[in-house]
Amino acid sequence: MEKRISGHTGLMALFGTPVGHSGSPAMYNFSFQHDDLDYAYLAFDVDVDGMEEAFKAIRLLNMRGGNFTMPCKNIAAQLVDKLSPAAQIIGACNVFVNENGILTGHITDGVGFVKNLELNGVTVTDKKIVILGAGGAATAIQVQCALDGAKEIAIFNKMDEFYPRAEETVAKLAKHCPDCTVTVDDLDNAAKLAAAIAEADILINATIMGMKPYEDVTLVDKSLFRKDLVVTDTVYNPKETRMILEAKEAGCQVVGGVGMLEQQGVVNYELFVGKELPLAEFQAFQV
Ligand code: NAD
Repeated sequence: MEKRISGHTGLMALFGTPVGHSGSPAMYNFSFQHDDLDYAYLAFDVDVDGMEEAFKAIRLLNMRGGNFTMPCKNIAAQLVDKLSPAAQIIGACNVFVNENGILTGHITDGVGFVKNLELNGVTVTDKKIVILGAGGAATAIQVQCALDGAKEIAIFNKMDEFYPRAEETVAKLAKHCPDCTVTVDDLDNAAKLAAAIAEADILINATIMGMKPYEDVTLVDKSLFRKDLVVTDTVYNPKETRMILEAKEAGCQVVGGVGMLEQQGVVNYELFVGKELPLAEFQAFQV
């Protein structure tokens, strides 16, 4: 450590609460050392109320960049100087980059999702997409897919507290991405969901269903899978959800949630230091 940290070392950090479980410090510090970059990455437990002070510290200490996690992503979007197009539409950011004192907020969940699809040979441009969910991950994916030229996005969500957020997304995307047709319907409308999936190129689960402790749950009846449907899940624990396993069995191309998580790290690192994250080396180091 005495060889790594000097009087010149630049600081990056994660802000939010809780942050103690985060894997980000290990991943970024490994990468800085691997790439011989003079930065250190820490995690600071800060609640929404502390974010104004945190931003004073970011500016005072001239931090190069960092991340925001729950529950600080929305307040952070109000405290940065500029926002990426997706962060502007969503009103939240999970990354900041400091360029000569100007802090720009980005949201990279959706970018990571789309990049991971691309690595699996799937593009969203001109595609018809059905997405289940209207929470944080779902909204970021919906906005990014629309920005990246998707033709249609059919959102399905339970009539719960997240449903109005999907309605807001429909309104925002009608304004910002008028070439993409975005709709929202009740997830319990089985006939409408089946009809939308029958027309779709890509099906995405971005709800908490399928994730532990709901690993026995799938929101899509396996009779709806067909070979030319790409089935993707944001859930990464378990690595293969029941939906993914059933889609695989039906001969669909499947893409799980682990790659989305990894690609977010790749996108963030590129924003921080302009280099490709040494992901394979970090994974080998962890074993
Ligand atoms: P969130 O709390 O913001 O949203 C929860 C969503 O689940 C809402 O759409 C809600 O309506 C839906 N939901 C809750 N109970 C349901 C039920 N009984 N039936 C149907 N839908 C139900 O959560 P989030 O942060 O957006 O996370 C959603 C999923 O995305 C999680 O599984 C999470 O693991 C995953 N995720 C993955 C990554 C990644 O990098 N792979 C990143 C972020 C989130």
